[in-house]
Amino acid sequence: MPDSPNPSEELELDTLPGVGPATKQKLQEAGISTILDLATAGPMDIADAVDIDMSKAVELNNKARKKLVELNRLEPDFINAADLLVKRKAIDRVSTGSKNIDDLLGGGIETWAMTEFYGEFGSGKSQICHTLCAMVQLPRGAGGLGAGAVYIDTEGTFRPERIAEIAEARGMDADKILSRITVARAYNSAHQELIVKDLGKVIEPNGVKLVILDSAVAHYRAEFLGRGTLAERQQRLNRFMHQLLRTAEVYNIAAVVTNQVQAAPDTFFGDPSRPTGGHVVAHTSTYRVYLRKAGKNRVARMVDSPYHQERDAVFMLDEKGVDDPPEESTRKK
Ligand code: ATP
Ligand code: MG
Repeated sequence: MPDSPNPSEELELDTLPGVGPATKQKLQEAGISTILDLATAGPMDIADAVDIDMSKAVELNNKARKKLVELNRLEPDFINAADLLVKRKAIDRVSTGSKNIDDLLGGGIETWAMTEFYGEFGSGKSQICHTLCAMVQLPRGAGGLGAGAVYIDTEGTFRPERIAEIAEARGMDADKILSRITVARAYNSAHQELIVKDLGKVIEPNGVKLVILDSAVAHYRAEFLGRGTLAERQQRLNRFMHQLLRTAEVYNIAAVVTNQVQAAPDTFFGDPSRPTGGHVVAHTSTYRVYLRKAGKNRVARMVDSPYHQERDAVFMLDEKGVDDPPEESTRKK
């Protein structure tokens, strides 16, 4: 792997002016161990960790971002569009396992971005996530990035057996594939937030290029149910989703989140989706893909993309995980 196993010295917190041993220790105790973590943490979390006021925390956060810009790990606030185009060439893609969905996405799931799959129960959200964990490990040129994955499981639906089946059906070594997937079971929303804050600890050491969050909002939905505290829920969720997006940008990884929505049988496509808990996730996601069942098949649709066509892609679920249906059934739909 090109990614070095040791977090490099240039990312040590105390290389930042104004960060002494005491501050460094407090940050580390709060799980902020490198400049990358400091740049991705929210100012509120930094303020809590070091026990400083918000303006100081914002300053510290800015210093970390500046340093990353200097180190060429983050783009500056103002950047020439031509330079940005060059930088965006660093964006990689991971195949979903279905050529149809890959085409819909312009070649696969993007790094440096957050992709949201939403749809009703059984529409294939978790199956896509499982398949991606194997696909990302394929070599470059074969649909993958030769990289590891992190699976944050909030619903207890992660199944290593299923990944083994998918890997074998695709001619991969199941044991090897499983050994490069790090699983984190999040038991509640606070735990989920903590896990995302700690992602820095596993991303670089394990050569991770894909972080799955299945699902993004289930805990928030359940915990804040009927408490009349929708505003608080949305605020927490917003903070959390932005942290995940920053992580994707700073580490140039693909973040994939799922979101369950109720099917609305009487709507066709004007407004297919009412993602419960959802505007926050919708607004933070770079790309949104709506999944629905269509007989034995499934249909994916790219929604609200800044530069993709809005159209349907037909796929199916089988032993290979996500797969393309035989030509005929695609035509019949
Ligand atoms: P939820 O919102 O409940 O989490 P989901 O969108 O995550 O739903 P998935 O778990 O991705 O749904 O999809 C479940 C479907 O996947 C099953 O209904 C089944 O059709 C299909 N499936 C699961 N395992 C296999 C398999 N081994 N072979 C073929 N199809 C499978
Ligand atoms: Mg699921």
